[in-house]
Amino acid sequence: MTTTLSLLTPSGRLTLGNLLGALRPMAERQDDAYYGLSDLHAMTTRHDPALLRERTAEMATLLLAAGLERATLFRQSAVPAHTALAYLLECTAHTGELNRMIQFKEKGRGQDSTRASLFTYPVLMAADILLYRPSVVPVGEDQRQHVELTRDLAIRFNRTYGEVFTVPEIVTPAAGARVMDLADPTRKMSKSADAAGSILLLDPPEVVRRKVARAVTDSDTGPTSVRADREAKPGVTNLLEILLACGGSPDGLSSYGALKRSVTDAVVAVLEPLQKRYADLAADPARVDAVFAAGAVRCRAVTAPVLAAAEAAMGLA
Ligand code: ATP
Ligand code: MG
Repeated sequence: MTTTLSLLTPSGRLTLGNLLGALRPMAERQDDAYYGLSDLHAMTTRHDPALLRERTAEMATLLLAAGLERATLFRQSAVPAHTALAYLLECTAHTGELNRMIQFKEKGRGQDSTRASLFTYPVLMAADILLYRPSVVPVGEDQRQHVELTRDLAIRFNRTYGEVFTVPEIVTPAAGARVMDLADPTRKMSKSADAAGSILLLDPPEVVRRKVARAVTDSDTGPTSVRADREAKPGVTNLLEILLACGGSPDGLSSYGALKRSVTDAVVAVLEPLQKRYADLAADPARVDAVFAAGAVRCRAVTAPVLAAAEAAMGLA
């Protein structure tokens, strides 16, 4: 069995996309699993401290509400080895290779100033990974370049200073649920996007109903209008996929109105128990804090020898 590692950035509020594409698979894989909130990554672009605190607390509570209690849960900033190793890796990385990172170019585009941390973000991400010595890293297309850099840095470090890091293999996960934005079904639902097209995990049922009712479909009114066709009918296809992923049935649906009512019911049925558990946990924030504090203690213990080996190899006393 290999170590599993996944970090979620508290850059917004968790969506149905995050639940179906991330939290559900994470809940199925909790042995030797480290699931973190990358609060430091949330600071690479302009941020509001009070909002970051609020988002982080909400996300921590949602991870527990989603049933991830058996995994090791932690906040990245509570495990100082992440930033300590990132610095050592910055002494291994070249500015040229960081300059080639597509995400840096995209997120920095049109900004009159970008934070230095946005530039070095992929190095912190490399530290996040290498500290836990996973042998494989499943990664979606948007993060692939960063994990390739992680491998390059690990290989270069090992060659220059001695074998310290496990070089992880990159695996592309089997195409899982990819929930699209309800208002623009050609792009994916995102927690940092405008919430009109995103179903948030804490949206009350009437908000879910309104967002689904306003979801973009098409002008097809024929008897077979309710059918999946990603090219020609992206909005309807997305609604059908959400329906199936939430345990609903597409049988016998002959109008978009009926489809939307079924989608709403199925989504609400999935969110209601989650929201109930969230409310119970939110009433007892000390319990959530205690779970994350215990997780950070475990993370500090497993990462300490890796950081110490890297320091020693580089000539630090
Ligand atoms: P951001 O806008 O900050 O990038 P995001 O919603 O895309 O937010 P990420 O932090 O990039 O979320 O990703 C967290 C996890 O959620 C990843 O495992 C990612 O694959 C998954 N995920 C994100 N959006 C979707 C989606 N629309 N459908 C399925 N899975 C998703
Ligand atoms: Mg994303």
